[in-house]
Amino acid sequence: MKSAILSVGTELLFGQITNTNTVYLSQQLNLLGFDVMYHHTVGDNPGRLEEMIEMIFKDCDLILTTGGLGPTQDDLTKEIVCRAMEDELVLHRETMDKLETYFKKQNRVMTENNKKQAYMPSRAVVFDNDAGTAPGFALEHQGKTIICMPGPPREMTRMFQRRVLPYLEKKSESTIVYRMIRTFGIGESMLETKLLPLIDGQTDPTLATYAKEGECCLRIASKRATKEEAAKAVDEMLEKVKALIGEYIYSCDDEDLVTVVARKLMEKKLTLSSAESCTGGMFAAAMTGISGISQVFDRSLVTYSNEAKMQELGVREETLKAHGAVSEETAREMAEGLHRVSGSDICISVTGIAGPGGGSPEKPVGLVYIGAVYQGKTVCRKIQMRNVNRNWNRNYALLSMLDLIN
Ligand code: ATP
Ligand code: MG
Repeated sequence: MKSAILSVGTELLFGQITNTNTVYLSQQLNLLGFDVMYHHTVGDNPGRLEEMIEMIFKDCDLILTTGGLGPTQDDLTKEIVCRAMEDELVLHRETMDKLETYFKKQNRVMTENNKKQAYMPSRAVVFDNDAGTAPGFALEHQGKTIICMPGPPREMTRMFQRRVLPYLEKKSESTIVYRMIRTFGIGESMLETKLLPLIDGQTDPTLATYAKEGECCLRIASKRATKEEAAKAVDEMLEKVKALIGEYIYSCDDEDLVTVVARKLMEKKLTLSSAESCTGGMFAAAMTGISGISQVFDRSLVTYSNEAKMQELGVREETLKAHGAVSEETAREMAEGLHRVSGSDICISVTGIAGPGGGSPEKPVGLVYIGAVYQGKTVCRKIQMRNVNRNWNRNYALLSMLDLIN
């Protein structure tokens, strides 16, 4: 199938940003077995965009666009694509609900131009945006297909991996097999550095890394004549990957960390309780999001104040005075106190400075201590995040707790 990539955005024509989206999408399309015939870029200009679509479709069947899906005046891609494909924009209820929830959560008023994002071509297959507000979509007309994705690379790559790839695979004539490997405790650049011997000069299987809220994912993909051949190539590569970064891998099948940890606990019939300070119940929310977890999950105590830590968990006043609430000693006493009250096989505690305020030179924002009691022993882990974003830090603390249990 002949395809083209069409980037939309005046800033690209000004040379203000590098067109990384096209590079990425070209690699991906080739891997899928599509022939990429053209790379085109147009500014935020409705007339030229429409002409370009018409021109490309003279000898291509598939166009991938990025950019111009946002809420502002100059974001016109959806409107123009809709017109070129002889469709009309209609309210997409799911997207509207999502936007409303999003704005409510952020305590912001949704303006009229934001509502625009919830209108989609009536025949479109809508692609959720996990990293932003503007959804993408695929639209077919008379044997031609356009796929529109947002401009920001972080949003685009994630949408491509999770939603567009499965959609395109159905259209592709060759066979591709891929596996998503999930890691924790290693940054994207370090991951890539460690994998360099495998990535360098490698055409098939290919390895692609991408970051995902505190974690790093790795995709291994192979395109071969048969599914069996491709699967074999991917599995062989996975073994090589494991030899280099095995200690960081927690799933080879795109499962999230809480799912993996919960399954292990249920298999081993190990009971679990938590004492949370900076995560304020996030650990409990993550655990209770897993069906069947009541077999093993006993309780979580949210002990935010020093008083709560003393009353509920028996943390000693002297400990808090001498070392502070965010300290190894407090994390230990929290976990040990929790063990006394719950008797769970594993008792995990967390205390930290989520930020953005509240840090000091000795205890900067992002400092977290995690304690765990298991088989009569208490272990403690210190983590220093470099981020000042509160939600990011809290989420990373949660992942670190799960990682310690895993
Ligand atoms: P938003 O909702 O953020 O407005 P959008 O889908 O409307 O998203 P644009 O407004 O076109 O996208 O682009 C937003 C930003 O995404 C740009 O300022 C730029 O930083 C980045 N971006 C857009 N296109 C590309 C590209 N082809 N390559 C790399 N980065 C890009
Ligand atoms: Mg925009």
